[in-house]
Amino acid sequence: MKKLYVWLISFIAVFAVLITGIFIYIFPPATQNYLNKVNGYSFWLNDKDTMISQPQIGQFVQKFLSTPSTKQKKVAFLGFDAIRADALLNILKDENGANDLAQDKANSAFSLIKNNGYLYLAYAGGEKGTDTQQKTSTAPGWTALATGTWGNVNGVQQNGDYKNADIKTTILIACEQYNMRSLFTVAYRSHIDKAFNVDLEYAKENNLDMKIHYVDNDSQMQEYLLNCVEVNNELERDFIFAIYKDTDVIGHKFGFSNDSNEYVDTFMTADNMAYELIQAIYARPTYNDEDWLIVLAVDHGGLGLAHGGQTDEERTVFFASNKSF
Ligand SMILES: [Zn+2]
Repeated sequence: MKKLYVWLISFIAVFAVLITGIFIYIFPPATQNYLNKVNGYSFWLNDKDTMISQPQIGQFVQKFLSTPSTKQKKVAFLGFDAIRADALLNILKDENGANDLAQDKANSAFSLIKNNGYLYLAYAGGEKGTDTQQKTSTAPGWTALATGTWGNVNGVQQNGDYKNADIKTTILIACEQYNMRSLFTVAYRSHIDKAFNVDLEYAKENNLDMKIHYVDNDSQMQEYLLNCVEVNNELERDFIFAIYKDTDVIGHKFGFSNDSNEYVDTFMTADNMAYELIQAIYARPTYNDEDWLIVLAVDHGGLGLAHGGQTDEERTVFFASNKSF
């Protein structure tokens, strides 16, 4: 009887440890000093006290569109889904010693734009504890970046929300006000189609050349995008808003962490695809007569196998651009 009792206690103890372990694996505690660590990397042009909000990035794109130019304006807004700020340690050499890279990674969009342009720390999730606070999720992130407003204004505070029709995305604005052939493209449409379809409907009703193209994965999107930046291709577009989404899907399975090879590899592949796309833009025979804005942006970070909350791991993002913010 006593033996059985001991056995039972041991079983419960092992079970409790196991459950706790699984719980911590899925929901690891946020580390107090994550933002301080990230802030210490040498490659940002700003710091944690001057971080740029996602709506400000959206407004930056709108300002570019509205500034007169003698050249033909073009935009490539390339999104990377669920990339933590510390994932850049796989690409960029930190002069302060957080990684041991000898130099910035070759064939990388982030290396290329950082070294020929600008790289900034940014944040998702709204202003903590105010009306603008929103989920660090996919639809709210991209909608803030596309409209220049937080979800309390644009209507998208969590996945599944519908965007307010009167707050237009830059994809629609480029088309309606600046006569640019625009495109929104992404895989795994479910999070975002509710948010952006109202603009597509409006474009249809008003005969505007705004296209939404859904794909199955990043490589399929890449194949399509290479056509969109080719001069005189029937798929050619002037304003591209494209989201490399695979890293988010992989992060939910294997963890949003530099310790996950799957997560890092998928981001590296997307970064390399974006590099290839930017090279295709540079190679356009008409490139010198055009004024290109190239932006690389992120919708949210991640923690464990999830995101949506207000930890620094989820809130802290970044963006790169060939033009100064
Ligand atoms: Zn996302």
